[in-house]
Amino acid sequence: MFDKKILMPHQYFYPHMDLIQDRCSGDASGIIEKIRNYNGKRKAMIYIHIPYCDSKCNFCGFDKQYNYETMDMYTDRLIQELEMYSSNIFEIESVHFGGGTPTLLNGDQLRRILGCIRKNYDLTDDMCVHMEGSCTSLYREDIIRFILEEKIARVSTGIQTFHRPLRDIFAQKATLEEVYLTLTTLKKNNIIVHGDILYGYPQFPEIGDETEAVLSDVREAIRMGLDGIDFSPVFPYSNNLERMMKECGAAVPSTEKMLVMMNKGKELMTATGYAHETCYCFVKRGKIIMESNYYGGINEMPDCIAVGSGSLGNVCGFKYRNHAFNRYMNCEFPGYLQLKELTDSEVENMRIIGWPKLFSLSKDLLTERSYEQIRPAMKLLISKGLVIEKEDSFVMSEDAKYYADNIYFMMLPEKERKVVEEQLKILVYESENVNCNENILWNSGNWRR
Ligand code: SF4
Repeated sequence: MFDKKILMPHQYFYPHMDLIQDRCSGDASGIIEKIRNYNGKRKAMIYIHIPYCDSKCNFCGFDKQYNYETMDMYTDRLIQELEMYSSNIFEIESVHFGGGTPTLLNGDQLRRILGCIRKNYDLTDDMCVHMEGSCTSLYREDIIRFILEEKIARVSTGIQTFHRPLRDIFAQKATLEEVYLTLTTLKKNNIIVHGDILYGYPQFPEIGDETEAVLSDVREAIRMGLDGIDFSPVFPYSNNLERMMKECGAAVPSTEKMLVMMNKGKELMTATGYAHETCYCFVKRGKIIMESNYYGGINEMPDCIAVGSGSLGNVCGFKYRNHAFNRYMNCEFPGYLQLKELTDSEVENMRIIGWPKLFSLSKDLLTERSYEQIRPAMKLLISKGLVIEKEDSFVMSEDAKYYADNIYFMMLPEKERKVVEEQLKILVYESENVNCNENILWNSGNWRR
């Protein structure tokens, strides 16, 4: 049914924040008022954004900060923002430190942030804390002590590749020796660790056979005993890879080659006990939480209280994005760059639209209206054998999992699809049987080379 695989930008999740229309006018009191007047309880997670980084990876499109002297002040700002949202209407189920590189903060700064959450919010008994960290810092003694003392449930780290030439192309700061030191230190301390492995990068001549390179990375990740492997494709736009691709005329692999890499990588992982839990996550140990929050698939979609520069949250039916670093450090809270009050149908859709990323959709989540909306696409997918209808759910076939983004795009309401087409870059992997083996960017409703 799909002759080309597509990739949506990693930072996109429904509903889209329009850069112009949803720009915040400055009147941002709506959320706070809603929190104060809300009767009852709301499940929530807290996302803490730490923008500091010591690397300049070529595939990275995040906004990063290298001025480490501001870290104490930034910690103060985070605490101030966390206090602003604090209310006993929230039941916090999880906390996620993301970035950037949260482990560039020291153990004391991280403790202050967590201490503020413990003091100001109601936490569920099994509330768990996840943290991202780099292989240049996760092995530090103060960080290991913080992880153990604060019972951090899982850490994830961006290995990306074990190949030295590829690490050089990616311009990763951590040396291979630091990667191994990090993994062995975490394992020695019995800390649950997930690691990222990339594939689908542009075919630079130094890499040789990409499929072989990727599979040897997966084998090495398995050999190192990772509890989870985040096996995901590179998005080579809005970052340095875009420029590098243009300079040497490299293209990303074809749709067919991508399928081979995904399939073989998956075979290796499932044969060694990893479960393919979501679009990118293969897991042996450790809970997956962020995915549900961003893509739905659960009855009571938890709010995401996101704090820190540039962070994207949704609270009490509002979606927002905070100001970038400089403005965030000096603004009066709430310091939103963008703010959107969601309609009832957007809130309802948030639970179901992203299901292709999670591979199944429980019928309990569907309302009459939302079922009507996705029924034509579902019928088509079922007729093509890509989705299997069960008594209580819709489940993706194994083949359909390769096309999770194609199906995700199909599920979007028509109005949203149009905005996404106009404003975002969607990567389309070219087919091998087309003469020009060049990847295509799709936006403005056109095919564009
Ligand atoms: S370490 Fe992470 S945040 Fe920093 S540049 Fe690399 S990918 Fe981006």
